[in-house]
Amino acid sequence: MNAVTYSFLDKQYFCEHYFQICSSTKIHKVIAEDQVAELLATKPVSIQDNNYVNNLYESIKGQTGRPIIRAVHMTDPHYDRYYKESSDINCNLDMCCRHENGYPTEESRQAKKWGARTCDLPEASIRNMLQFVKTDIQPKLFFWTGDNCAHDEWSINAIDVAYSTKKITNMILEELDGMDISYYPIQGNHDVWPVNMQDFTRSNENEIINAHAKAWEPFLDRDALNQYKKYGFYSMPLKLSDGTLVGNTKVIGINTQACNTLNFFLMKNKYDPGNHLAWLEKELAKLENSGGQAIIITHLPTIKECIHGWGHRFRGILDRYQNVIRVGLYGHTHKEDIQVTRSITDNKNIGVNFFAGSLTTFKSKNPSFNVIDFDAEYMIPINIYTYYFDLELANTAGTPTWVQLHDYLSYYSLDDMRPDNIYDLATRIQASETMATQYLWDEIRRYGAKPSSCNAACRLRLFCYMTTTETLQNKLCRGALVSEFAEDIPLNVLNYWIDEWLVKF
Ligand SMILES: [Zn+2]
Ligand SMILES: [Zn+2]
Repeated sequence: MNAVTYSFLDKQYFCEHYFQICSSTKIHKVIAEDQVAELLATKPVSIQDNNYVNNLYESIKGQTGRPIIRAVHMTDPHYDRYYKESSDINCNLDMCCRHENGYPTEESRQAKKWGARTCDLPEASIRNMLQFVKTDIQPKLFFWTGDNCAHDEWSINAIDVAYSTKKITNMILEELDGMDISYYPIQGNHDVWPVNMQDFTRSNENEIINAHAKAWEPFLDRDALNQYKKYGFYSMPLKLSDGTLVGNTKVIGINTQACNTLNFFLMKNKYDPGNHLAWLEKELAKLENSGGQAIIITHLPTIKECIHGWGHRFRGILDRYQNVIRVGLYGHTHKEDIQVTRSITDNKNIGVNFFAGSLTTFKSKNPSFNVIDFDAEYMIPINIYTYYFDLELANTAGTPTWVQLHDYLSYYSLDDMRPDNIYDLATRIQASETMATQYLWDEIRRYGAKPSSCNAACRLRLFCYMTTTETLQNKLCRGALVSEFAEDIPLNVLNYWIDEWLVKF
């Protein structure tokens, strides 16, 4: 059996796959649903009730004084090295606040020191966040889920992309110097070049991935770096900065470029790009066999911009290894959200995913980061806190004031963060327009005016966002299958072509 690695634009593809006249071997489709059914058939009896993570929370319910490990989750800083104070915030481009946009005399159009709603983030704001982390948060772990360079895709180049990750890494090392923190980064879709593009057919040859690996030498161990350099994903034992292992726990950094609908290289990566999912399955099987656990970190949520075939297989793995995976940490949307993973077989709530809000203000967001308290034994989130600063206020006052927006337990009256409770929260938000409008406003850390309404369709969209983890599952939840296909035919046709996995034998 050989994976097919030529593009659907090749003559060979049509000749072999569609007309089947120019080769003695035949190309066969590998259907995601079939593969997942096979995988789920191997689920141990002990987890067939799909209640493992709920039971973990139940087992520690009411126990006070259990040790906690505090983590920071930072995502989407989108550092703009060319940000210029006093430049125009209302330019005709997607992103402003640079010298070439000019310097308007009207004060309301001038970029201020701590950022602007139409722009990416100046260095001062990133450093200010890190200083606050040092003085007020004092975490032991630091998860960083990517998108480090600015949004000027029309002018950016490979050097800028590599520079941004290196620069933020240096800011972290400088501002958090002397702290006992372990760092676990993964790149985003803006941290490859061109944006969204990564070829998975050859390992160790992506110059940006190699540059990130170099930058992250202070963070990742040698095995993790060697693995990372192959295709941009890795796993590493979870350790405190003094080298103490946190139980048998691994951080698994997933590269969701392998399913990004805008990654055109997937046209020729016709079978498990980079063998990423096969590798992930092996990692989780090893942990299962040794009674271990995993924290998943990645950039792109698999719910919208991730092709169905890969997303469904990924969901299958989350289902099969629900007894190993403790939480998924994501970025990319710039909005803060929480979500449950549900079992493919019976829709039970089997896991929790958290999307941190962006550090960048782009677009019209207050900068934020999150603090997650983990149970030190089971590494399940015990509570999640959101910190932000009011952008307008910071620019008027001359300095940011970081405040807590909320913590999930008290704000949403949750007993704990178990999947069933997050599902229940989603149903409450769907049932209440007051909760839904507040949630929408909180997603963007209360930037601007609070939304005045969220009708039944809006609340269904929120509910489905919080309770599905895969593109097709989400569309079915919203009843949007046909209408969305008609809305964006080119993208959907492309999805069809890059979605399938093919083998020759
Ligand atoms: Zn992104
Ligand atoms: Zn982003």
